[in-house]
Amino acid sequence: MTQPAKSNSVAFRDIAFQLHSQTNPEAHEARGPIIVASGKGARVTDIDGKEYIDGMAGLWCASLGFANERLAAAASRQYATLGYYHTFFHRTGDGAATLAEKLVEMTGMEGGKAYFATSGSEANETMVKLAWVYHTVRGKPTKRKVIARQRSFHGSTIAAASMCGLEFMHREFGLPLPGFLHTEAPYPYRGMLTGEDEVAYVERLALELEKMILREGPDTIAAFIAEPIFAGGGIIVPPATYFARIQQVLDKYDILCLGDEIVCGFGRTGEWFGRDTVGMKPDMMALAKGLSSSYFPISAVVMKGEIYDAIRTFNQAGGSFGHGFTNSGHPVGVAVALEAIAIYEEMNIVDHVRRMGARLRGRFEAMAAASPIVGDVRGAGLMLGIELVADKETRLPFAPERQAGPSFDRIALANGLIARCMGDTLGFSPPLIVDDRDVDDIADRCEASLRELETELL
Ligand code: PLP
Repeated sequence: MTQPAKSNSVAFRDIAFQLHSQTNPEAHEARGPIIVASGKGARVTDIDGKEYIDGMAGLWCASLGFANERLAAAASRQYATLGYYHTFFHRTGDGAATLAEKLVEMTGMEGGKAYFATSGSEANETMVKLAWVYHTVRGKPTKRKVIARQRSFHGSTIAAASMCGLEFMHREFGLPLPGFLHTEAPYPYRGMLTGEDEVAYVERLALELEKMILREGPDTIAAFIAEPIFAGGGIIVPPATYFARIQQVLDKYDILCLGDEIVCGFGRTGEWFGRDTVGMKPDMMALAKGLSSSYFPISAVVMKGEIYDAIRTFNQAGGSFGHGFTNSGHPVGVAVALEAIAIYEEMNIVDHVRRMGARLRGRFEAMAAASPIVGDVRGAGLMLGIELVADKETRLPFAPERQAGPSFDRIALANGLIARCMGDTLGFSPPLIVDDRDVDDIADRCEASLRELETELL
């Protein structure tokens, strides 16, 4: 795991030359990298031959595990036929057209279109630009602001980072940009007041949103963006009536609803899209990660017909949609995505996720009942979180200096389990191909790690 920094070692070269995402530079220099060398199924092996079960599918993305031969073959076939082409200036390919049709059909976006990009951040930013055109064409060009939620994660490019509701994504860069606002996150475990029931809680959140809209001016707000279930913000499922009530507010003020399905999409929550788990009705959806099981960087926006009509109307005098990425609709990306979706359908991924998710959740709930430091188990499908607390009765969190979450990550890693702490919430989002044995392996290693953590903390 930690490599001695010999001058020609991977660790040495890594420390000397690479800047890592969401990594503390000094800590990285001191402890060195985890050098992942190969993968098979839900497991990866490091350069020293130590095997880990990846309880996070990398970054919530490798839904088909780490060395799927069908995806490799699909990519290889496409590379040998046409390794690159683009979708600017009327160009397309069989794969891009087929995947666009498939995504419109799967999402049920009536009369809609799919637009391809490369990353989740790009897809989210594309939705914002589409929302601006939509309102402009309808004679409302002042509708420009975007309301996101605290705790949300939407990406790292400048507007996507502005939409994040996480302080660490803003502080070095002077973000958010003006015009990107954040309303309160639904977080039942911590957000509900004593004596408040779910209905009253949802009402309070909806009124808070409405107050923000009225304060800013409804004619300045273009869109509201949300993950159906918070991923990086701590795997938080909103109350059952949340999105229906929020939608009433959005409809009242003519505000578009943008669904960030980048983590939730393609079966993760036990439905094809997270939208259907939580009753959200987005006008556009951003898809990435599971779309290709992240075997190729590809993302998409699927939009309703009205949004496309706006682009069409705007350009009626012969203009061209002024947006695009060199690798939009990349033939290898679309070939891999089509193969990934074919596999999901063949294995009936939604049912499989429900079964495996229920098994893992059952184990986590048993652990919670037995552990003095597990306050909450939550999530949907194979997107599950465990929140650690210093006091289960009062829900008192651990003091930050106790490092409860990060300590779990360290112990779990030593025990061959890759999890991911988000503060003191432990995240689990394993490859969707996990079987009973994999689920039990994750649960066994989690349980052993929790025991060790209890010994350290109590
Ligand atoms: N949206 C969500 C919910 C995510 O979790 C992520 C990445 O983790 C993104 C957007 C950004 O995607 P990308 O890193 O591909 O730009």
